[in-house]
Amino acid sequence: MRITRIALHAVDLPYAGGVYRLSGGRTYTSFDASIVRVTCDDGTEGWGESTPFGSTYVAAHPAGTRAGIGLLAPALLGHDPRRTERIGDLMDATLTGHHDARTALDVACWDAFGKSVGLPVCDLLGGSTDVPMAPTSSIGAGDPDAMRAAVADHRARGYRAHSVKIGALDAEGGPALDAERIAASLADRRHGETFLVDANGGLLVESALRMIAQLPPGLDLALEAPCASWRETAALRRRCPYPIVVDELAQLDADVHAAADVADGINLKISKAGGLTPGRRHRDLARAAGLTVSVQDTVGSSLSYAAILHLGATVPPRTLRGVLNSEDMVTRKVAALDTVVTAEGVLPGGSPGLGATVDEEALGEPVAVWET
Ligand SMILES: [Mg+2]
Repeated sequence: MRITRIALHAVDLPYAGGVYRLSGGRTYTSFDASIVRVTCDDGTEGWGESTPFGSTYVAAHPAGTRAGIGLLAPALLGHDPRRTERIGDLMDATLTGHHDARTALDVACWDAFGKSVGLPVCDLLGGSTDVPMAPTSSIGAGDPDAMRAAVADHRARGYRAHSVKIGALDAEGGPALDAERIAASLADRRHGETFLVDANGGLLVESALRMIAQLPPGLDLALEAPCASWRETAALRRRCPYPIVVDELAQLDADVHAAADVADGINLKISKAGGLTPGRRHRDLARAAGLTVSVQDTVGSSLSYAAILHLGATVPPRTLRGVLNSEDMVTRKVAALDTVVTAEGVLPGGSPGLGATVDEEALGEPVAVWET
């Protein structure tokens, strides 16, 4: 089984909530997805996606994703997509870093692998725990009452884990506004719900401590990516009463090792890691270190959500916080998933590969094709 063709599609994904706000005054209204289709000599196809969160989240941007795929795709032609670690070696030998570009190709290889052997990707990654996973919301920073309403809206739609954004500039209201946002978001917390409070690296140690001092007692939350550097995160942790989860800082295997020393959990984003192959390693490193895990991606469509679900289903339930429903964050659907949704949570279905039926009309014509 050899890869004979790789096609790349560029798809605009409008944000479902209007304007998404992150710390530091960053705003986003749509996301630019790169979606690849890998075709093999026996007709097997695999799909994968990588969608950066704009150009100001981690070191990735959509034009760079596509340029990176342009370097990587020719190197994979003629190779067996099922030898996923060797596909990773080929990508290592072709382009250093650029995890976003590698991700779409890596995930497409796993999808083709699953289809070729008639198994869902989660079984190839170790097997689904079959324990329904908590869908995780993503609530942009805003007015405290609006954030409380957004949490209530997601709760009504079955979300049991929430990620709420903070990181107000001093001119916007600073630590006092962030404390109000947190208190409002958690005001109606139900038993069994979990809350990540995510500053996306936007706080100084001082501003984080000022914010914490203004929070009401007894809030059950974990503080995600409070600061931009490892040093600041370590300094804050010594004085922070809340568990700390790292996200943007954890991109390499070595970062997950480092996280065990300064944090209590990681946010495992598939395109930040470089695909399901390194994502699987990060899952295992986190398990060995006793870190909690949220399985997410920077953002993305149904294909990104499918990859999240298949990796998430293999994380031991005791350490899994939830899985980001990226599909729900955007208005354009590019695929139908075989997802099983119940009141207890979500699981991937048992269809081979990612369990995604792609709507090719929604993708449009490819912007580039590589063939043997
Ligand atoms: Mg985060």
